Amino acid sequence: MSLNATTRRPLMAANWKMYKTVPQADAFLKEFLPFVASVKDVDVAICPPFTSLAQTIQATEKSGVGVGAQNMNENEEGAFTGEVSGSMLSALGCRYVIIGHSERRQYYGETDASVNKKILSALKNNLIPIVCVGESLQERDANETLNVVGRQVRAALANIPSAETKKLVIAYEPIWAIGTGRTATPAQAQDVHLAIRDILKDQYGSLTSLSIRILYGGSVKPENIAELMACEDIDGGLVGGASLKPDSFRAIVNYKSASAPVR
Ligand code: PEP
Repeated sequence: MSLNATTRRPLMAANWKMYKTVPQADAFLKEFLPFVASVKDVDVAICPPFTSLAQTIQATEKSGVGVGAQNMNENEEGAFTGEVSGSMLSALGCRYVIIGHSERRQYYGETDASVNKKILSALKNNLIPIVCVGESLQERDANETLNVVGRQVRAALANIPSAETKKLVIAYEPIWAIGTGRTATPAQAQDVHLAIRDILKDQYGSLTSLSIRILYGGSVKPENIAELMACEDIDGGLVGGASLKPDSFRAIVNYKSASAPVR
């Protein structure tokens, strides 16, 4: 079977960052979940703060929505005050974990090497890592985008056996587009997604590279999701700001009914 954009199941993942108390998460889920019951051809993930994970897992149990954490520690357990391990997330019922978000790289000193360790631990604990990569504005202006993203992807994948890579999700998130309202054009995003897929092809062969989902993140909104999803190598979105309101995240999940060209 040949794999292409139409056989990779789209994934729309909400990254709530440090937003929503437990009652606020409840209110979102009450409004959002009834809609998801009718969504058949898109995977939906919600990544709330740690404090709302248990309740979100419980509320989404029969909905098909997958729940993810926004970070994890690479160790199984130990004296790491304030940290949460992959085995804890897995035991709680998480399906996904975001790893290496640019905010974590920028504010909490995460590096390509620590990101790789976290991915290995996530896979070992049966979690699907959503691995974030992306360049700064300065790097884009210096024509360094493909070098930077290529380095991040190769480092992230180091020592990951081919059989495990099928579970991976990669999110291309240009830092200059995160939370700024400035989205990469579909052509800019597609160029980088294709370059990422070429790296995956080099490392794991064509079939595996074509089965891995590559999400775009960076000011995704109901107004731009359809044109992004029309690109051959864009398989979904990692959505921050626009995932905080049930209506706008619903419109993003429902992108196929928007008027822009749809693949
Ligand atoms: C993100 O948090 O990963 C993100 C892309 O945020 P926003 O959609 O707000 O740009």
